[in-house]
Amino acid sequence: MGGLTPQELSSQRVLVVGLARSGVAAVELLLRSGASVVGTDLRSADELGVDPIDWSDRGVELRLGSQTPDLLDGIDLVVLSPGVPLESPLPRAARERNVRTIGELELAYGASSGRWLAVTGTNGKTTTTALLGELVKTVGVPVAVAGNIGLALSGEVEGVPADGFIVAEVSSFQLDTIESFSPHVGVLLNVTEDHLDRYESFDAYRRSKARVFENQSASDFAVLNFDDAGVAALEADVAATVIPVSTEREVRHGVFLRDDAIISQVGGREQKIITASEVGIPGPHNLSNALAATAAAVAVGVTPADAAHVLAGFRSLEHRLEDLGEIDGVAYVNDSKATNVDSVSCALRSFDAPIVLIAGGKDKGTDYSPLRGLLAGRVRHVVLIGEAAEKMERTFEGAVPIERVASLGEAVLAARRAAVPGDVVLLSPACASFDMFDDFEDRGRQFKDLVAALSRKERGSVAGGGK
Ligand code: ADP
Repeated sequence: MGGLTPQELSSQRVLVVGLARSGVAAVELLLRSGASVVGTDLRSADELGVDPIDWSDRGVELRLGSQTPDLLDGIDLVVLSPGVPLESPLPRAARERNVRTIGELELAYGASSGRWLAVTGTNGKTTTTALLGELVKTVGVPVAVAGNIGLALSGEVEGVPADGFIVAEVSSFQLDTIESFSPHVGVLLNVTEDHLDRYESFDAYRRSKARVFENQSASDFAVLNFDDAGVAALEADVAATVIPVSTEREVRHGVFLRDDAIISQVGGREQKIITASEVGIPGPHNLSNALAATAAAVAVGVTPADAAHVLAGFRSLEHRLEDLGEIDGVAYVNDSKATNVDSVSCALRSFDAPIVLIAGGKDKGTDYSPLRGLLAGRVRHVVLIGEAAEKMERTFEGAVPIERVASLGEAVLAARRAAVPGDVVLLSPACASFDMFDDFEDRGRQFKDLVAALSRKERGSVAGGGK
């Protein structure tokens, strides 16, 4: 399989950079392998919520609060957490000193014996990974679902035997730090503009996503979304057997729509899976995710009947077009996970009703103009928050009424004032959250709390005779 085995690690002195969830899981894996471990983070033990005494009792040397290059003295291997930019000072210093540097994904890969199914792309990774996890569970072998999706890979993979599956959500940052990582099935959903603050160009970002296929051979599979021209173009470059998926045309040996049915020709055998309108997750983009997950699942032996059952029962995950119910005839939807333009355009296309859009947050160097054309006719009113508000206002000016407010709380009130019964109030920010919130989950939860408070207030005012 490749990758650093626990035996190889046992003689190494390893520096783990970044001690959030994945970094902590990496430290634990390394301790199990018998490696000598140093852990570092720019945050303090308090901020991280780690107990330095417990860690030192277990033999982990901690260097918290600041990071200087001397941390690399005597280090054989650096393991980077997924959130640590390759261009930050410590990884740079490691490269300059030629200290071998891998990511947590590569570390977990070396420690695993199961078959990997890896999902990457700009949007839809978590949804597709969760769905694929449910699909492959029907095969009846042990399955771990991990990666960006919540559980750290390093904490999950060792328990999966050789005939089991590891279904992993992998980001381009994790793929930047692989050496031998090679999934049995790699899935690339789409590549659209995002994270341009961390990549020098769009092409660099696309190349980074394509690394999911770089170590595969002909006995492996590459599921490629042919509706995305940039993804389809990779067909010529991958060594694995390509399984094309498309919602737009019939793709030979792939998974596609015919009339309203999802059809699989994987392995050369044509099978009807399910009627598309029976798939449990809403919107055209989720149909595309469902086709990709189905392709990967059928490739590893999931039957059409089992696939149909799972596809029909699967529901949207939290913070992804999550339906929060109605207040005064207005629907509220939490799409806090929509941190880029493409996911917001999918959200705007998923409703027939007029939308009051709450957007904005931390700008990632994004060009918001592709959204402008979608606003007219779909969006009644836009409420903008966060650092990006001014830039977004300049981009959208003249297309729809726009309002800038200082907080998410004010945004919910402004959206409520602008909405009329039958409308949808949609939080779909097109931006990262870090200017005002811990992360997209914090932003989504705060939005849900504000909507719940609004609902209580409305019920109270109705009970009190209305005001
Ligand atoms: P990721 O893990 O890649 O961020 P998620 O499944 O968490 O993907 O979805 C992120 C956001 O993108 C959500 O707002 C969701 O509605 C939207 N989305 C999901 N699938 C797609 C897709 N195939 N294309 C574009 N946007 C999508």
